[in-house]
Amino acid sequence: MIAEVIVDVAAHPIDRPFDYVIPKQIEVLTQPGMRVKVPFGNRKVLGFITKIKELSDFDPKRLKPIHELMDVIPVLNEELLQMAQWMKKQTVCFEIDALQVMVPAALRAKYEKRFVLNDTLETIAPELRPYFEKRPFIRLQDAVDIYALLKKEMDKGTISADTDIQQQTAVKKIRMIHIANDVETLEAIEIRANAKQQSKLMAYFLSNTGQTIESSQLQKIASVSLPTIYSLVEKGAAQISNMESYRDPQLLTEIERKSSLTLTKAQQSAFDAIESSLNTEKTFLLHGITGSGKTEIYLQTIDQVLKQGKEAIMLVPEISLTPQMTIRFKERFGDQVAVLHSGLSAGEKYDEWRKIQRAEVKVVVGARSAIFAPFQNLGLIILDEEHESSYKQDDSPRYHARDMAIWRSEYHNCPVILGSATPSLESYARAQKGVYELLVLEKRAKNQPLPAVHIVDMREELRNGNRSMFSVQLADAIRDRLEKKQQTVLFLNKRGYSSFVLCRDCGIVMQCPNCDISLTYHRSSETMKCHYCGYDERVPKICPECESEHIRFFGTGTQKVEEELAKVVPEARVLRMDVDTTRSKGAHEKILSAFGEGKADILLGTQMIAKGLDFPNITLVGVLSADTTLHLPDFRAAEKTYQLLTQVSGRAGRDVLPGTVYVQSYTPDHYAITLAKDQLYEPFYEREMTMRRASGYPPYYFVANIQFTHEDLMTVAEYADQTVRYLKRQLSPNTLIIGPSASLIARVNNRYRYQCLIKYKKEPKLVDTMQQLIKIHRTEWLKKGATLSIDMNPTSV
Ligand code: ADP
Ligand code: ZN
Ligand code: ZN
Repeated sequence: MIAEVIVDVAAHPIDRPFDYVIPKQIEVLTQPGMRVKVPFGNRKVLGFITKIKELSDFDPKRLKPIHELMDVIPVLNEELLQMAQWMKKQTVCFEIDALQVMVPAALRAKYEKRFVLNDTLETIAPELRPYFEKRPFIRLQDAVDIYALLKKEMDKGTISADTDIQQQTAVKKIRMIHIANDVETLEAIEIRANAKQQSKLMAYFLSNTGQTIESSQLQKIASVSLPTIYSLVEKGAAQISNMESYRDPQLLTEIERKSSLTLTKAQQSAFDAIESSLNTEKTFLLHGITGSGKTEIYLQTIDQVLKQGKEAIMLVPEISLTPQMTIRFKERFGDQVAVLHSGLSAGEKYDEWRKIQRAEVKVVVGARSAIFAPFQNLGLIILDEEHESSYKQDDSPRYHARDMAIWRSEYHNCPVILGSATPSLESYARAQKGVYELLVLEKRAKNQPLPAVHIVDMREELRNGNRSMFSVQLADAIRDRLEKKQQTVLFLNKRGYSSFVLCRDCGIVMQCPNCDISLTYHRSSETMKCHYCGYDERVPKICPECESEHIRFFGTGTQKVEEELAKVVPEARVLRMDVDTTRSKGAHEKILSAFGEGKADILLGTQMIAKGLDFPNITLVGVLSADTTLHLPDFRAAEKTYQLLTQVSGRAGRDVLPGTVYVQSYTPDHYAITLAKDQLYEPFYEREMTMRRASGYPPYYFVANIQFTHEDLMTVAEYADQTVRYLKRQLSPNTLIIGPSASLIARVNNRYRYQCLIKYKKEPKLVDTMQQLIKIHRTEWLKKGATLSIDMNPTSV
């Protein structure tokens, strides 16, 4: 038999499977989706078996045999193997990258683990001998079913393992010792006079007959070693059993089960539409303002899916994956829910993944990569906040979770729900065309009114002599809420006030020596840092250009706002949430829960507070500058501004108390701002579509982006230039190729960056051409030190 193997070889120009002979001894054990070690050139590499066949196109005598089989259970199933092939074309990545991204880090074809027999075969348990007889072909790292045996042998010292990685990846086993329950049995056991340890343990057994104790605890209490315990077990004084235990990433607090709410009329009709389409590959766009009860619909449709004996995947943006969110799922579905998020350790992720693979859980709530959850019987996929750019992976493979979801829905014949208060233009356009079915929730579920949104013209403030970053209205409102003991959220766009250090005499701004970008001033450490390459240095006392002493600092946005705020309301208790205050693990949750408990009057923060914040006492939201996202050089700038304003406004008045929002702006008449004020999504959509059509951007055109980098400016310019000429020869004349041009930040970490943009309506040769570019890159440009990255669906350009 022959195995097709996709190998993990970086920089290989050819992306195809290689054929290997499966050695007779392991033929029955070998399955597609398993990891193998194979000879490649003069070394050994890892890879995935993607197919098993009888005949090879190559001369079988020249094929090499698989060196080792690394799995007992395949890590990838047939569906995921097929999906990888599709992803490879769709995103123009190498198949190995597509395969690796689908499994947790601990199961990628990159690890080295091995059990080694230290002694002769006769020293180990008979059940294990067949595995070791087949050495060196089998690596038993994921032999979950025989793991208990292996562990026992490891403890006895007859085999050894790379325990470091083992602990990280394998399901945790707890060894239970059951002490014999009659004294006679124990007294009949002979112990040699000089076996002090054994005598000590026997004394413990005699006074604790019939009890069960965890072996690690027994070792401590009786102060004996594990081999001592085993020696008495072998003599019949006790028995061992292994209890499998998962690392539980969520604290084991009891979560009370809750039942479904009675749906409102609007919710009911959306629910009915989805329910009647279970078991079909239909995509729904659920357009509902924040608080309209989308999540309740998700919960109830998932419930239906579970009743059919099927499974569901619920994707949420990483930042919305808060404890409140997961608790809502656990309240409904108890321990049928697995949660996958970036805060889990590699071991915890592995455990959650195995639970999914064994169908021990039925619902997965997770961020982007949870779309690869290896369920076999999928009944529903949900993407909440479907417009979020975090659903797109930034580096290769640059896949979008929405595309993967739709692919899987076709494979499993199950629906997809895309939910959002502010759908992406692409999705809404598809709904308009009837590709997706549009479901609308117009009102909040509890009928609370939307917050009153006021736009404040900051030009007017300036004309009236107010130079502060707080308008008179906003400042008054903040004071008012303080008096009423209600809470305020102040939102500052992160990119808004880039902080920098400037010489007032010659006007230079301190720049990163490695990148074409100014350094960011960090007040807490009195340093200037580069956010692109990590460079940092102390703030100079004198200007490096003109030796002036008049250095001026512009504090980071949130820090500066905090200072100004102290002038407006000196008595207010302020919590700040930004990259600086949330660096440590769990800091994010700590700040939010402190605010929720009323330990502060004002929460001041960046993008990260725009989501998930759901506290009844927030009655005022201030957006300090709505303009900053609007002026980004990005075709989605207006869309992002609209989304952000809607989302931030949604934080106010979520409960009984009504909410008020002030949006400050220097361009208060821009349609993204005026239409967001009243959440007029459709008019916004129409306006924005007109703009996109005129400028030739999605959803009217597809775009693809190619970026080149090199240490030398001339080289990268030449590479980009050659590529563009090549593209022009290959692609159809209707396709627009824009560039090459220097990237917006033209140098990062001493590498120059060039790019070109491809805009097309229909370009059947695109994927082939792009794959060809990669081949050219790997055969010619890679060794010259260049990099190439292709993004077939950039979220911003
Ligand atoms: P969304 O996901 O659209 O923001 P949620 O599902 O979170 O909306 O609902 C918003 C609030 O309304 C929540 O507090 C939720 O418990 C409540 N809610 C949702 N549906 C109902 C309902 N049918 N009856 C009563 N309360 C509801
Ligand atoms: Zn100067
Ligand atoms: Zn830098």
